[in-house]
Amino acid sequence: MLTGEEYLVELSRPKKIIITTHHKPDGDALGSSLGLYYWLKKKGHDVHIVLSSDFPTFLDWMPGREELIFYTEDTAYAQSLFDTAEIIFCLDYSALSRTNILEPVIREAKGQKWMIDHHLDPEDFAAVCYWDSNAAATAQLVYKFIVEEFQDKAHIDEQIATCLYTGIMTDTGSFRFKSTTSEVHLIIAGLLEAGARNWEIHEQIYNSSTENRLKFLGYALLNCLEVIPEYHTALFSLSKDDLAKFNVTTGDTEGLVNYALSIKGIRLAGLFVDRTELIKLSLRSIGEIPCNAICKKHFNGGGHLNAAGGNSTEELGEVVSRFKSILPEYKEYLT
Ligand code: 5GP
Ligand code: MN
Repeated sequence: MLTGEEYLVELSRPKKIIITTHHKPDGDALGSSLGLYYWLKKKGHDVHIVLSSDFPTFLDWMPGREELIFYTEDTAYAQSLFDTAEIIFCLDYSALSRTNILEPVIREAKGQKWMIDHHLDPEDFAAVCYWDSNAAATAQLVYKFIVEEFQDKAHIDEQIATCLYTGIMTDTGSFRFKSTTSEVHLIIAGLLEAGARNWEIHEQIYNSSTENRLKFLGYALLNCLEVIPEYHTALFSLSKDDLAKFNVTTGDTEGLVNYALSIKGIRLAGLFVDRTELIKLSLRSIGEIPCNAICKKHFNGGGHLNAAGGNSTEELGEVVSRFKSILPEYKEYLT
């Protein structure tokens, strides 16, 4: 493991660097990656971001999106970058399996792995582990990496600030979650000073729905929502047919689970989506209900206390039934 002083030395001369993040990147995954990307470029490094998949259309405005390299589309080029990279940043994930098809590529790459992340239970694969599970977002840690470790606030420009602001805003549910500490607000103040335009970012992320997406939301609220009052739980289950009716794409289901949580009295909310190969599930909770423990034990996943996810190879109906059948196990939290 490198010490802080050692990694300052490592980055003191130009390096070949790749930034990676988790499959199906969200606002924090992409925001932290692009923010770090622009900063490393300013410092003279040769930097590329390689992704394992596409990302939600509501992030399609982000500075630097046209620079992203998709491993499956540009395999030979991306692989050549991994073959020669000296440092591979691992952002917003702490288990290599979260990078999907990139897992073996990153594992076998010779470059040093530098993790910057806030997920629980980090795996031991990185030479640098800039990790804090109390951080609200990886973008917050990237900010601290630049400002505290490298004393380089001066180089945080409008582009970097926009990317990092996006990461923190999306991972805190617009500064609502418990993770939104006074430190988060101080960092946000720093990002505004550096030129992030908060209202514009908010518009881009939250007011960029298509008519179709809004109608899909209405459809899901009417047809796919189930409330289980005795366990203060509500869930959406979306079949392949439901998705096909509205031609739902990556990101269109983002935030849906929060509607289930917004019902008065509901403390645990689930979203079950029949994706091509797997059922993907998302859980959200309030208070001490451990979404991560539920996902880890029963659904091959993990995450944070109040927001976690997992998957299953069962049929949609089976996964939902199984979810309902395990609720009594958590009755001390749910009833
Ligand atoms: P989402 O429900 O938005 O997909 O994910 C919420 C959080 O749960 C993510 O930030 C991530 O920490 C975690 N998560 C989601 N899916 C998985 C998964 O399949 N495995 C693990 N270990 N964590 C997941
Ligand atoms: Mn994150």
